[in-house]
This record gives sequence, C-alpha cells and structure tokens, in this order.
Amino acid sequence: MKTGSDAITAAQIRGTLPAASLDARAITRLAKNPGCQRLAAITQIGSSPGKAMQHVFAENYREEQSRFALAKGRVFERVQCENGAARLLASLSAAGILGTNDVSVRDINAETEYLKAPVAKQKRAIALTDQILRQKATGDPAAPAVVLQAALAIPLSSGEVACVRPDVLVARPDEEMFRPGELKSYAYLHHLTDQKDVAQAAGQMGVYGMALERRLAYLDLTRPVPHEGALVLVKPGGLQSVAQLQNISRDISTAHRIIEVRPRTLAELVATIGTGATLDTKAAIMSLSPCYSGKCRSFCALHDICRAEAAQHGNPAILGDEAEALLAAAGTNLMRVAELIHGAAPTSANEELLQRRLQTLELEWRQAS
Ligand code: SF4
Repeated sequence: MKTGSDAITAAQIRGTLPAASLDARAITRLAKNPGCQRLAAITQIGSSPGKAMQHVFAENYREEQSRFALAKGRVFERVQCENGAARLLASLSAAGILGTNDVSVRDINAETEYLKAPVAKQKRAIALTDQILRQKATGDPAAPAVVLQAALAIPLSSGEVACVRPDVLVARPDEEMFRPGELKSYAYLHHLTDQKDVAQAAGQMGVYGMALERRLAYLDLTRPVPHEGALVLVKPGGLQSVAQLQNISRDISTAHRIIEVRPRTLAELVATIGTGATLDTKAAIMSLSPCYSGKCRSFCALHDICRAEAAQHGNPAILGDEAEALLAAAGTNLMRVAELIHGAAPTSANEELLQRRLQTLELEWRQAS
C-alpha cells in the first residue's frame, strides 16, 4: 500500500520552482557532495541549485560557465564530429579502441534536427538510441561503431525520467556492447595530464555507464557494458585529439548508488518539510540540512547562501579544509575558538590540544611579522 509520502510526486514538491533536466551534470553534481540533503532534495524534485538560487534567493542570478571554456569545448566537439567524425575516428583507431575499418557513425542530434519541439526531439532521440542498442545487443553487423549524442532514458521511481546524453558511445563490431566516451577540451600531456580533469571526465563517463546499464536492463538486453570509458582529449597545439581508455568501474558504482538513493530521500524530504509543503521558499530550502565545505563553490550555485549560513553558525568549514579538520578534531566551532584564543579554560583534552596549537600558530605569526 502506498503511504502519503510515496504517493506524492516530485513535481508537486517542486511547487513553483522551475524544472531543470536530470542529466549527467546533475547526477555528477550529486556525487560531489552525497551528504548534502539540500542539494539531493533540489535535484530529486527535478530542479537545480541554479534554478533555486534564481527563483528563491536572487532574481538577477545567472548561472554561467566560463564563456571561453564553453566556446573552446564546443569548437573542439564540433571539429571532432564533423566530416563523418573523421578526426574522432582517427584518434579512436590510433588508440586501438576501434579498428581502421570501423567507420560507421550515427549522429542522433543530426537525425532529430528536423523536430523543433524539445519534447518530441528527445522522444525521437530516445527511440533511435533504443533501436541502436537492440541492434548492437543482437549482434547485428549493421550496428554503428560510433554513436554521437545518444539519448539514454532512465525511468526513476519518482515517476520522472532522467535523460543522459553521452558525447559518444563506441564499440568495435566484435564487442558485445558500446562503451561510454567523453570529449573534453583538456590538454593531453601524457603522464602530466591534470588528474583532476581526468577524474572529472571519469565521473561523467561513470554516469553514462550507469545510464547505459540501466537502459539495457529496462529494454531486457543483457549485455555487459565495458567499464573502460573512451576519454578523448586535445592534443596540445591544435584541435587534433588523443583517445585513451580510462577505468570507470568506481564511477559507475557511485552513479548507481546516487540514483538508488532517490526514493528514500524523496520520502525523507516530505517528512522534513511537511506533507503538502513545497520547496519553492527560502524557509523550506533552508530547513534541509546542508553539508557545506569550501569545495561547494566549484560546483553548486547555492554556495554563497550555504557559506553565509555556515558563517552564522560558526562552522569552521568556511576557513577551508585544513582548519575545518583541526577544529572538527576538537569538536568545536568558531565562537569557541575565539574564546580559547582569548584564554578561556579548555574543557576537554581536545580543546587543550587545540588551544596549544592555536597559541603556537599565533606565536609563529608574531615572530614572522
Ligand atoms: S552549496 Fe549548499 S546546497 Fe550546495 S552542495 Fe554545498 S552545502 Fe549543499
């Protein structure tokens, strides 16, 4: 039997908060702070921190990625995919991911371009992708080697459907299923390639891998998805690319866990904000527990709101990771730190240690000035 919280839909809890796509970016964002109830709730009801920021906290807020980075990324992708994806195929072949004769390409964006309404376009893209997955799973030799912008639909227990669009799906004819791939305009520098960039791309490929596994299960197609994604980066000095295989097993598992947590937290959400309440007000959003850290700035539009709240509560997270760890070990907050600096008597061994550490830091600072 359904309970009241099971019966409620994500759209009802959203209220007037604008909807946002539940795409790879949204799922990757969740994986960056799995302990944050506020972020999870806003995502699970089908909105985003950016929409909440603009609709509830700051009307003039505009969510923007660096225009330069966006333009660079778009140009790189376009160049790889033009002329029958000639550059992309050459890089995949040079890396041994495809053979030199594996040149059949399907471009789902191009095949749905004639449709103007976004909903119809997405529906057609999902149908075309499903056809290709069936072809591949049944060993049809006509299955393409490369699929650009496939549309993988994941039905969620809340009744919504997340649609994930991998840059590329790749498979040789002798492979049972496609592997996910990602095109990134990051520089390929052999062993000096920035590992943070690689980890970010692997996280995104993990979401694609999870979506592919779930779509195959939904279509009753039991074929294993390779857990090595095809990462395509820029060769320095131009727009040529370099492809490499990247292990994404852990990233796929993380993405599955993030998706599985949905129904539980949706029910928890109703319990937290109250039956019938909506998440389109400051009070409702702030009633959800945050899990603020200095890292939030790099991925969540609500960072200024959560940072101000953390400062108000004397949360040491606003001082950065090192200071947070020091204060967390002593189980204290910034107000108590101020008291200890001004000579208050420690009430525990941890506070005593912290006070000594603070006194040493202060002495070093005085000696250095
Ligand atoms: S900024 Fe706030 S809502 Fe966003 S992840 Fe951090 S704590 Fe959660």
